[in-house]
Amino acid sequence: MHTGKFVTAINCMDGRVQEPVIAWMKNEYAAQFVDLVTEAGPNRVLSANTDQHAVESIKSRIDILVRKQGSNVIAIVGHYDCAGNPNGEEVQLDDTFAARELVKSWYPECTVLGLWVDDHWSVTRVD
Ligand SMILES: [Zn+2]
Repeated sequence: MHTGKFVTAINCMDGRVQEPVIAWMKNEYAAQFVDLVTEAGPNRVLSANTDQHAVESIKSRIDILVRKQGSNVIAIVGHYDCAGNPNGEEVQLDDTFAARELVKSWYPECTVLGLWVDDHWSVTRVD
């Protein structure tokens, strides 16, 4: 069994954004492990909050990570050229902020932040 600090990223399922987000989270939070909950455009799914099946699926997976892994940092990711959220950066940032508010309402004890991955696949905190 591994012990160490776990953090969580609610990331797009797009393969291009996995490694940049994992590296950023490890570096920023001195985390040993980055647990991933992936969807197509999760910032859109959570900000719209209309597909209850998808929203509940995401929440049930975060629950496991927060309760069992002790994750207390949760990042919500939006990215350039996203098939799941084809909106431009400005709209996506609003989606990420709304998604962050929803996740924060579920886990007020956790640090919930937004990330943007740009066209060079570099990661910026957006809140
Ligand atoms: Zn995407």
